Amino acid sequence: MAVEYRVYPAAFEYFAPRTVDEALELLGRYGDEAKILAGGQSLLPMMKLRIAGPRCLVDVNRIAGLDLLRREGDRLEIGALCRHADMVESPLVRDLLPIMTDAARQTADVQVRHRGTVAGSLAHADPAGDWPAALMALDAVVRIAGLGGRRTMPLHEFIVDAYSTRLDAAEMVVGVSIGIPAKPSGGAYVKFEKRAGDFAVASVGVQIDLEGDRCRSVAVSLGALGPTPIRARAAEDVVREAAPSADRVDRAAELVREAAQPFADTRGSVEYKRHLAGVLFRRAFAAALDRARGRQVETIHL
Ligand SMILES: Cc1cc2nc3c(=O)[nH]c(=O)nc-3n(C[C@H](O)[C@H](O)[C@H](O)COP(=O)(O)OP(=O)(O)OC[C@H]3O[C@@H](n4cnc5c(N)ncnc54)[C@H](O)[C@@H]3O)c2cc1C
Repeated sequence: MAVEYRVYPAAFEYFAPRTVDEALELLGRYGDEAKILAGGQSLLPMMKLRIAGPRCLVDVNRIAGLDLLRREGDRLEIGALCRHADMVESPLVRDLLPIMTDAARQTADVQVRHRGTVAGSLAHADPAGDWPAALMALDAVVRIAGLGGRRTMPLHEFIVDAYSTRLDAAEMVVGVSIGIPAKPSGGAYVKFEKRAGDFAVASVGVQIDLEGDRCRSVAVSLGALGPTPIRARAAEDVVREAAPSADRVDRAAELVREAAQPFADTRGSVEYKRHLAGVLFRRAFAAALDRARGRQVETIHL
């Protein structure tokens, strides 16, 4: 069925609360008929296409403190208003978690990166979204506020299906918390897109912690290769607790292809995307390992 494109969304009420509590009160009052507006880079196109038609928009951009980005002990805390561009530009992120710099740099285009937020990407849960995929490799935790109080949830539990999360109507994401891996460690996120600024045809994130020559821990996440991001745990098992030999990487790449659950669409067939999953895994694994060994490597043109 053709979707009718109109320039303007349907009418809605607009609120710009100054505190999280005010935002939650509005969400409680309007229930399913309210939507949070963060960067607006997914919500506004959907409203113009009339795929979304909220009666009330709760614009959280004026809430103080939601733009924090800081290290707290062994965790990196990211407020709900941190934009993709903040991640691109942050020396802290680049130093501690280069996999996130990779993901940020490859998300959309420069205009979108200056408005869109990390938290909005998680809440939107687009199967081809870059943040859900990259942060799945880091075991990120989502910080949630509701009228009944605050709670946290691992990202792998938070996203339940394509465009679907465990967030209740009267809750909002207030931040994302990520454990900082002890060094020597390195991560990389590699994305294949049909043209610059596009969503992924497929993407793979790899995070490696080293102990001597061995990979003490390895996390592998797949993006745009199923309805939700996927952790390729069988592949992780093959390269964990061992020196990363060519044989092991071959076997892990095979298991990555098996873990992928792609669907055919205008970006490619199931076979093509499965093949890509293996190729991108190899590239991401090699870049993550190089970084864990202290080498500077680029992933964008890998
Ligand atoms: C041209 C274009 C290209 C793009 N390319 C890519 C790409 O390559 N990769 C990619 O990953 N994304 C891409 N995007 C999407 C973009 O990254 C969005 O910024 C992101 O998906 C959503 O973040 P946002 O802050 O804009 O959220 P919004 O659009 O404001 O909101 C999206 C959804 O999340 C909800 N939401 C937002 N914040 C919260 C919160 N704090 N708590 C609870 N719910 C919340 C909203 O209610 C809404 O349902 C693209 C977008 C455009 C327009």
